[in-house]
Amino acid sequence: MHFLGFNSIFPKIAEYETRSITVLQNGESLPMGEYSFIELYCADKKCDCRRVMMHVFSSDSSQKHPRLAVLSFGWEPKAFYRKWAPNLSDDDLKYFRGPALDPHEKQTIHAEHLLE
Ligand SMILES: [Zn+2]
Repeated sequence: MHFLGFNSIFPKIAEYETRSITVLQNGESLPMGEYSFIELYCADKKCDCRRVMMHVFSSDSSQKHPRLAVLSFGWEPKAFYRKWAPNLSDDDLKYFRGPALDPHEKQTIHAEHLLE
């Protein structure tokens, strides 16, 4: 699986379609600021993983690590991923189906809140 940023292939559409959230007050979960969710899709023509990865960035340039989380989302039913990758354990399967934090990427203390 090789993931490419949607914005690198369709920059004009991404300009309008990229989603962000704005936290207006410092809370228990996320510091005040804007968070952008950059979508990446699998570019391997032989792969049919049907997943999106989302890199979540903070607009706060003073952040030491502006990429705060890497989320994954598989939109097909669990049975699809079980058939697609029959050797996946039940534990691994939870990272393919539905929303999850990517276990192979560096996450920050804000990642769980961004996943929510
Ligand atoms: Zn794929």
